[in-house]
Amino acid sequence: MITACTLPYAPDALAPAISAETISFHYGKHLATYVNNLNAALPGSAFEGMELEEIVKKADGPLYNNAGQTLNHNLYFTQFAPRRDNNAPKGKLALAIDKEFGSFDAFKKEFTAKGAGLFGSGWVFLSAKADGSLVITQEPNAGNPLRSGLTPILTFDVWEHAYYLDFQNRRADQLAALWDIVNWDVVSERYAER
Ligand code: MN
Repeated sequence: MITACTLPYAPDALAPAISAETISFHYGKHLATYVNNLNAALPGSAFEGMELEEIVKKADGPLYNNAGQTLNHNLYFTQFAPRRDNNAPKGKLALAIDKEFGSFDAFKKEFTAKGAGLFGSGWVFLSAKADGSLVITQEPNAGNPLRSGLTPILTFDVWEHAYYLDFQNRRADQLAALWDIVNWDVVSERYAER
């Protein structure tokens, strides 16, 4: 049985970047549907009993779509915390970001531009390579960088269902707001565990 993540904050704790109403639909309905569809498709398939990450690496078709969306949303919803001023990474992750992108501000600018510029539905990811270097990728639909041998450490959801209640068509405004609520401790842990 694959499960949705538990939210590590109250449903209204991320406003105004993500409202309680968006949490109720996005986490409570959209993610729940992907998880239910995945669990309905697994019994009797070649992927029954596998870890979610393995399913995402190996599956195709509807099973892959629901597994990818489940993993992506679990990564997404567990990487936030209530708004903080001057929210930024520290330590080895901060150094790796500076090395790859020049500065944290330059990284945010590129990440936001790639999220805003992704046509249609999908995700923008920051991932680590085995050597610790970093890369930003655009993943359409349910895509996940695990498929390319990368370790995903941060992702912003650019499906309209992620932001339409709070920002309507203003995807770039949603992406800008998310920087205030990223929990860099969680992202750093993912980076350290790559
Ligand atoms: Mn979503």
